[in-house]
Amino acid sequence: MDKARILTYHRVGIPRTGRYERLTVPPGRFARQMGVMRLLRYRFSDLDAVAAWLKGEHARIGRPVVLTFDDAYADLYDHACPLLLGRGIPAVVFVVAGREADVWVDRGENGPLPLMGWPQVREMADAGIIFGSHTLTHARLTRCSQRELEREVADSKKMIEDRTGRQVRHFCYPYGDCDDRVVDAVREAGYVSACTTRRGAVLPGADPLRLPRLTVGKRMGMRRFLSRLMLRH
Ligand SMILES: [Zn+2]
Repeated sequence: MDKARILTYHRVGIPRTGRYERLTVPPGRFARQMGVMRLLRYRFSDLDAVAAWLKGEHARIGRPVVLTFDDAYADLYDHACPLLLGRGIPAVVFVVAGREADVWVDRGENGPLPLMGWPQVREMADAGIIFGSHTLTHARLTRCSQRELEREVADSKKMIEDRTGRQVRHFCYPYGDCDDRVVDAVREAGYVSACTTRRGAVLPGADPLRLPRLTVGKRMGMRRFLSRLMLRH
């Protein structure tokens, strides 16, 4: 494995109008993206494998792709999760443990969008979807006091573990916002990987707690999707 690619999705569903609809991928387009990656022999992998590879625990062959979903929007339960589970494709969904809707986004007249509820999270975790932490409140972590930072990182982990009955090993920084102090807190809390919003593929020697990713948005047709996937670095 010379490099891994981690894709960032937000919503998979019917796009609503508004500033943030660009982060919604329609279900049909999402299904075609999964199909074309299979066809091109990308191997669907997970963040545990990427973290182990970066630690030198095992060399892997092939072209791994990891799917990540930020914020755990409710429509993932209806559209993305059934497709992924049906095709045996692993995925990591980053949950904002203390929120029921994305109140951190100013959506004007549209109002906040619902996030997956705990019964849905539990059901999907039992079915094989991996859940990671996206903090308690979607806070900008570099602006948090030390005490707030530790709560956002460690309490969210514990909450998701209690609700899913599974260990939480992966973290995602809201807005990609992190610095050395934040990364230390994430390491201290026991996470083995953490995702940023920095754009790129994961190369040997990368820090598993500052993983770059490739964002997939609504307006991305197949040609742009493929060129982003095949990004050289
Ligand atoms: Zn987010």
